[in-house]
Amino acid sequence: MSETELVIGLECHVQLSALKTKLFCSCSADYRELEPNTVVCPTCLGLPGSLPVVNREAINLGLKVAKALNCEISDKIIFFRKNYYYPDMPKNFQISQYDRVGGIPLGRDGYINIKTDSGVRTVRIRRIHLEEDPAKIVYIGSISTSPYSLIDYNRAGVALLEIVTEPDLTSDEEAHMFLKKLRSIVEHLGVSDGNLPGAMRCDVNISLRGGKRVEIKNISSFKEVKKAIKYEFLRQKQLLKRGVTVEQETRHWDEIRKITVSMRSKETEQDYRYFPEPDLVPIHIPVEWLNKVLVNLPELPEARKTRLITQYGLPAHDAEVLTNSKALADFFEEAAKLYKNYKNISNWMMGDLLRNLNELDIEISESKITPELLVSMLKLIDEGVISGKLGKIIIREIIQTGKDPKTLVEEKKLIKISSEETLNLYINQVFQEYPGAVKDALKDEKAIHYLIGQVMKKTGGRADPDLLNNLVRKKLSEISSSIL
Ligand SMILES: [Zn+2]
Repeated sequence: MSETELVIGLECHVQLSALKTKLFCSCSADYRELEPNTVVCPTCLGLPGSLPVVNREAINLGLKVAKALNCEISDKIIFFRKNYYYPDMPKNFQISQYDRVGGIPLGRDGYINIKTDSGVRTVRIRRIHLEEDPAKIVYIGSISTSPYSLIDYNRAGVALLEIVTEPDLTSDEEAHMFLKKLRSIVEHLGVSDGNLPGAMRCDVNISLRGGKRVEIKNISSFKEVKKAIKYEFLRQKQLLKRGVTVEQETRHWDEIRKITVSMRSKETEQDYRYFPEPDLVPIHIPVEWLNKVLVNLPELPEARKTRLITQYGLPAHDAEVLTNSKALADFFEEAAKLYKNYKNISNWMMGDLLRNLNELDIEISESKITPELLVSMLKLIDEGVISGKLGKIIIREIIQTGKDPKTLVEEKKLIKISSEETLNLYINQVFQEYPGAVKDALKDEKAIHYLIGQVMKKTGGRADPDLLNNLVRKKLSEISSSIL
């Protein structure tokens, strides 16, 4: 993906899942895994005559996020009506906030710094505002082929923070980095649990420099955001190549077919007929209120990163990667309570743990490995019971099964071979099988490694690598002197 061609802006929707109730009524905000349409009331169903009451704690949580994202915080906020007709919003309008024609959002002009391969990049935050989540529409299969739709209003009215960036991102990788950082921040603040399905969703505005902007709506996970950007980049590039103009429109990411499909030509802001919500008064936020909310904010990822470097002596890169996910940083610090070689924990996490999670396409929270299990494996390696090489093999099993490393070692008879006698048996076999390589090895370092590799293979990776190295070299020098 060419760095200079892509222009990406994000609109992230973060559910304030720490709240007990919805944004404008007292229905439970914990709607997941419930019978559809059971946590609803006249207000969140939009029945005539019902009136909204603002959830004060939602404003508090929003203020914390605005502060953490370095935003200017308003001393007054005003809710606006965003008018549109769609079955997920039975009132035919959404109570939201607006930053024009007298609208004042919760926060604006903030930023998040992300670390990319080319250095630190600042992604500007245009605004943060509070709004209500619409209902959930369930399709049978994909949106474009579903014969009918089902609507669950349990989600309607749940408090959402919309976080809008400037178009500062230039690749799918950067968008992914930004989202990870944002998630880490809201999780450190304790306002949202990004692991809950649908708790963080995203609209992506994407264009090739100079071209029209396409909005991809409501992508449900970070991985899908990356895929959607990749797809849309190629689609727009192909169109341009053929001399076709990219239309300004709203598209839908079809997760099943892995393509974007046209939904409608993009509405303009005027289509929403924004105006101040007449059922809610403007809310003043005096300094005392703000101070009370913002005092004692929890440690944020940036501060935690600095602490990991000083407290555990971790390299900046490790600390950055770990704190980009609260779950990873928590995992590391739990393990560090049980095992004092901190760099070793970090090395295994940065290397084999993350690589396997990536390959298995899961998050650490979805894996079965715990800090205790990782430490137990590291101790087995330190004690010489298994080789580091075997550690690399069994860590994947631990991630997938949550089995104790000791049990795995016994079950699979993986104990390291550090007996000279046994190793010599394997070495003799290999020397007989590869006489050519033995001859080469008398003068060629590469051939020595080849022989060592063959013995290692025969032992199923269980040979003590240092001892094996010594024994092979010893045998070669014996051969060499017998020839002389
Ligand atoms: Zn309700």
